[in-house]
Parts: sequence; C-alpha cells; structure tokens
Amino acid sequence: MPVIFTKDTHEDNYLTTQEGKNLPIPHCIIGTPGHSICALLRRELREQHKIDISDSTGHPYLVVTKHTFGSGTLAHEVKTLLHAGHRDILVVVDMQNDFTTGSLGSDAAQAIIPYVAKETAKYFEVGDANKHRPDIAPHVKLIGVATDICVITNALLIKTICPEVEIIVDSKGCAGITPETHQAALDVMRMCQITVE
Ligand SMILES: [Zn+2]
Repeated sequence: MPVIFTKDTHEDNYLTTQEGKNLPIPHCIIGTPGHSICALLRRELREQHKIDISDSTGHPYLVVTKHTFGSGTLAHEVKTLLHAGHRDILVVVDMQNDFTTGSLGSDAAQAIIPYVAKETAKYFEVGDANKHRPDIAPHVKLIGVATDICVITNALLIKTICPEVEIIVDSKGCAGITPETHQAALDVMRMCQITVE
C-alpha cells in the first residue's frame, strides 16, 4: 500500500495554539469539510483515472493525521513500509479542501490537482508490484502543499529517519504560499540532498 495521504488536523482551540497565533485563519478543523481530502482531487481521480478513494471498498491507502507541520509518525510509517519491502512510496501532503478551495486555498494549489491525481494514479496502479524487488532502489516521493511549510518539513524529517533512501520532491506536484517561497524551499531541499524534480 504505497500511497499515504497526510491530513493537517486541528481542533476547535486552533486560535489559541502557536500555529493559530502566527496564522490566525482556522483551517483543517477536525469534523469540518475543510479537513477532508480535496473533493476536486477525488473527482479528478474518479473521472480521469477510475480510482475511487471515497469509501472503504475503493483503492486502499494510508492516512496520517498530523497536528504539526512535520509528522514523526509519518516518517516512522514510511520507515516501516520500507522495512516491509516496499520500494516506491508516494506521500501526498495535505491535499485537503481547506488548502485548495477552502480557507487557505489558492489558485496555485488548485492548479496542481490534475498533476497530483496523475501521479497518485500511477502509484495506485503499480500497487505492491515492486515490493521486494532488489533491482529497484527504494525511494519516497512527496507532492502536495505547501512546498515551503509541510512538504519541506516532512521531506527533511523522512530524510532524517531514512537516510539511505532517496527522497524525491516533485516540484510540478507542489504549490507554495508564494512562487518565491516555493522556489526557496526547493533550493533548500536540494542543498539538503533531496532530489528535486
Ligand atoms: Zn495547520
């Protein structure tokens, strides 16, 4: 099961948290529509790729909920999958309604939806076929939002926990808060030996 969706997750007390004080825009509050995986991404997967992630009978994938930018749980989950023999893991970072069409949505985040769907579909189609294949070097690819906050944090965390695994950030599948900080994050990740495509 090599596809992981992360979900930024906050509670009703968001505005009293450190993140809420610095960014006083409630988002991804658990139980609200904004917390769900982006409806446009689900539709794109369903209509363009015949992939249904809307119910338990659809394609299997993992969800990691996270209350902070980076998730140690995510990094350890990735490590566990690699130890189990998976070679190619896709992490789709925070592609939720609030980060695309909701309270922190943007044109840049909406613009990557078709590409994110295409990449995700590719990993769903391969499924477990590459498991235990010695000819494939293990890699972890990240796409999603925001390049300059949660993508970079989690890429560096996974790099820290899995130092011998290639970590790839696919820039075409990422959107930042601004074009400048998107680019700056890609530059920093390159410096930290993350493969930026
Ligand atoms: Zn947040």
